[in-house]
Amino acid sequence: MKVAYLKEAMKIVVKDDAKIPEISDDQVLVKMEYCGVCGSDVHFYKDGRVGDVAAPPDFVLGHEVAGEVVKIGAAVKNLKVGDKVALEPGYACGKCEYCKTGRYNLCPNVIFFADPPVQGALKEYVAHPADMCFKLPENMSTEEGALVEPLAVGLHATALGGVGLGSDVLILGGGCIGLVTLLSAKARGASRIVVVDLYEKRLNMAKEMGATEVINAQKENVAERVEELFDGKGVDFVFETAGAIATIQQTPYYVKKGGTIVLVGMAAESMANYNFHRLW
Ligand SMILES: [Zn+2]
Ligand SMILES: [Zn+2]
Repeated sequence: MKVAYLKEAMKIVVKDDAKIPEISDDQVLVKMEYCGVCGSDVHFYKDGRVGDVAAPPDFVLGHEVAGEVVKIGAAVKNLKVGDKVALEPGYACGKCEYCKTGRYNLCPNVIFFADPPVQGALKEYVAHPADMCFKLPENMSTEEGALVEPLAVGLHATALGGVGLGSDVLILGGGCIGLVTLLSAKARGASRIVVVDLYEKRLNMAKEMGATEVINAQKENVAERVEELFDGKGVDFVFETAGAIATIQQTPYYVKKGGTIVLVGMAAESMANYNFHRLW
């Protein structure tokens, strides 16, 4: 089968050199149809690393995937051949303190696509635990299915922050994660959702998806606009979804007293100066 290898920064080579993986009794074999490109994939591609984590040789990217089940293990009961599925990219141990307390996203033993040394899913076939493959409804394509993973990020971020009925929300970054955070905040009943980005195309999409206001950081002074929109009080919830040090550093300036900052994005650098005094 074909696999896309990251040979070095800025160089991906597709080779037809891998064996179709064998499946164990509790796994299914999924033929990949769509794979999203995450910000973390872009960091690995551009810099060969994300923060302290370097891409190993012949690294395979991709973790936002959906496809079709082509083979099932002997013990699999929840899926059949032909089912379209979205894959959960992480497989937790189910045994540790975090898993036992229902926070399996924090499992230290997790096996996660494209998280070194675990390879990602930019390949033709993936063997995956059946209980981490979610069957898509008939009216959903695998292209939409590949967006389930980023959508889950937005849902988790807004749940973690505690966005609720009547909340005011500021989202820094109007990329995929910014937009799914917007959708999730809206679903949780937020009143005003303001999206900040550098690109008009993204801001138009944000408006289409329900942003009440948008701010173009290339043309407008974001601090002034936030001040004006929220009567100088700041915003209940500030979500950083751009994954840049500059936007992380802005968060304490926009949040309201007693408000909440949620850092969703992953910056390429590990360290950043941050004005904690604003929060004190
Ligand atoms: Zn991702
Ligand atoms: Zn665990």
